[in-house]
Amino acid sequence: MTGYKFSNKKVKENNLRLVLMKILQNSPISRIEISKKTGLTRSTVSELVKRLMEEGLIKESYKNIDKVGPGKKPILLIPETEKFFVIGYDLTVIHSEIVVMNLNGDVITKRPFISLKKLISLKNITEILNLFIKSLEEIKHDLNISNQSIKGIGVAFPGLVSRNNNSLSITPNLERYFDFSLIDKFSEKLGIPIVVDNNANMKALGELIYGIGKEVHDFLLVNISYGIGAGLVIQNQLFRGKYNLSGEIGHIKVAEDSDICSCGEKGCLETFSSVRSMVKKYYTKCNKKLDENYDMGKIINYANQGDQNAIQIFQESGFYLGKAIGNVLNIINVESVVLTGEIKKYWDIIEKDFYKGLNETTLPLIEKNTQIKLSELGEEITAIGAASMVLEDMLI
Ligand SMILES: [Zn+2]
Repeated sequence: MTGYKFSNKKVKENNLRLVLMKILQNSPISRIEISKKTGLTRSTVSELVKRLMEEGLIKESYKNIDKVGPGKKPILLIPETEKFFVIGYDLTVIHSEIVVMNLNGDVITKRPFISLKKLISLKNITEILNLFIKSLEEIKHDLNISNQSIKGIGVAFPGLVSRNNNSLSITPNLERYFDFSLIDKFSEKLGIPIVVDNNANMKALGELIYGIGKEVHDFLLVNISYGIGAGLVIQNQLFRGKYNLSGEIGHIKVAEDSDICSCGEKGCLETFSSVRSMVKKYYTKCNKKLDENYDMGKIINYANQGDQNAIQIFQESGFYLGKAIGNVLNIINVESVVLTGEIKKYWDIIEKDFYKGLNETTLPLIEKNTQIKLSELGEEITAIGAASMVLEDMLI
């Protein structure tokens, strides 16, 4: 039927990942429920659950046993919450954050970290690594945990993270490239696995496990912040593309002309709808000095007070975002689109124009059947997603 070939091992690992995901999404859950939700036989589920228990990722819970219907009470499964932790670094141009979570997705602690802008400006790579080590030592000290309790570290970057070779390319705005082998060396030195990916993929994974993924299997997450990126989930799996470069929705051409995009082209969605472009445009229009903190809060206030320059920027941003998402929907036809990032703060201002743009490009039948919603998860979802990617990576 298709050209795909799956080895037995690959099928098993996929199933293992699926079972763990169902436990994380629906905890507490019985083996029978997992079997129903995954379509796997009860004996397969039991075998995979046994392996997850041996790895110390999940355990049996007797706490809620009385709440399960009549007849023989099945034992419920829950993630192990005391023994292991995963750490997510959400690196962004202006504000970075570290989140420590347990396997249940509960945030144990979070703290600020050096912004990517400042991190990139450091000349010496040892200086950069030392900052990571220092933050990690502080966390271990504060939580009184050892390296053995840390299952892994996920690092989210706001840019392209190519996986086809050893180079990690960071957002074009910053024009710096890192060598992936450095991360391997760092990981080896710590004895802790480290995974790196772009922030949209991390957010999509966070949504898949702890958010919309509980209800839908196919969705597109669009992150509208300093830049714009997307993470595509198909059949409960993150679709990465050949070189992990899928989801570059910010560079979809939505107009003939515009300011020059960070990629060097004109007409890209980012030049209209990214926070970076919107803030720059506003201060240029008003002949004012650029706010280097890219504070959208101020521009939202101006728009709410009737400032026409601000209103026009929001209108354009909403319209072109709708247009770009509409074009993507015509191809992928997912159940839901989740919008996240700074856009959540000004959605009410752009909503009308967004749907105008969406309507212009999307086929009516597709538009009618696609749910568009704002993410209900907080901003720490990037770091949670980064941490979750560690779990995903462990099983593949
Ligand atoms: Zn571009």
